[in-house]
Amino acid sequence: MPRIKIYLNKIQENAKRVKKLCYSKNISLNFVTKGVCADIIITKTVLSSGIPYLADSRIENVKNIRNAGIKSSIMLLRPPSYERLDECINLVDEILISELKTLEKIVECCKINNRKVNLIYMIDLGDLREGVWFENAVEEIAYALSIDNHQIVGLGTNLGCYGGVIYSEDNMNLLINIKQEVEKRTKRKLNKISGGSTAALKLLFENKMPSGINNLRVGEAILLGVDTTNNITIHQLIQDTFVLEAEIIELKVKPSIPVGKIGKDAFGRDPEFKDIGLRKKAILNVGEQDIHLSSLSPLDSKIKILHASSDHLICDITDCDKELKLGDTIEFKMKYGSVMRGMTSKYVQKVYL
Ligand SMILES: *Cc1c(COP(=O)(O)O)cnc(C)c1O
Repeated sequence: MPRIKIYLNKIQENAKRVKKLCYSKNISLNFVTKGVCADIIITKTVLSSGIPYLADSRIENVKNIRNAGIKSSIMLLRPPSYERLDECINLVDEILISELKTLEKIVECCKINNRKVNLIYMIDLGDLREGVWFENAVEEIAYALSIDNHQIVGLGTNLGCYGGVIYSEDNMNLLINIKQEVEKRTKRKLNKISGGSTAALKLLFENKMPSGINNLRVGEAILLGVDTTNNITIHQLIQDTFVLEAEIIELKVKPSIPVGKIGKDAFGRDPEFKDIGLRKKAILNVGEQDIHLSSLSPLDSKIKILHASSDHLICDITDCDKELKLGDTIEFKMKYGSVMRGMTSKYVQKVYL
């Protein structure tokens, strides 16, 4: 079985460093667990580093956290489906929302269950994922506050995930301005501004985060020490926290271009080939079900990944200095997409180091 080796001490060190950075700017921090399916050992490791709050997008993950006896405050990053509202409000402490109808349903559900859950109203500052469009935000949120049973505690935004929009002083200030405008209009105080995710840390490192942003929700930076949106390795943090080890199940010399008329690959993609003659190729026992091709790279830079179908990863090992044989393993660095799929996959063993 392929394995993911998880370097807990590196993740813990990242957690400490991100916490220190955020706390030095009076920013509270939720560790986002969804990238590792809220793996309990990793979650406990991060909690032990002093980050007290968690966040996840999926109720199943939240349930696992609760079942492990973890009582920390949990923020739900994605609004729950209506049929699971009852379950949800009893498991989480805070929910990010972006629809008035959802607000009404949650308020109603909380009244019936005699629960109070904090709500953060999300604003879309341009990334085109969740949130009320910024131009309509003041009006909608002012109305939301009139029906919220005092459960809305703040505003939030998320950038970088769809449109790839970079966090900037400008869009952070826009968020702060919207908050001030809403407060002025409604005479209500909003205590929390949850400004963003990993990609927002860059503003902190550069000392450019406007004061007023007082919460961030960070997964990737702590887990992997990288920031995909800004396309950077975060040098203040540690990388190579997750390493995949897969086994060679076929090892043969084959041509570099296929023989026959070419259609689509197993996922409907157009395969591309260059004729560089006969190559030594290894097939490994993982595939797209367990990893994400573009976020996987061999530790040995002389090995080249050629392709992955559902269950087979094909590598060119012609230039590899080591004499690899059938049954040997090859190691890979993992980025977010591969970590997420690998942690989700029941076909991959997790080993904690
Ligand atoms: C996934 C997610 C995050 C965390 O993103 P990272 O890039 O892993 O830090 C934060 N906020 C929301 C709303 C998310 O969905």
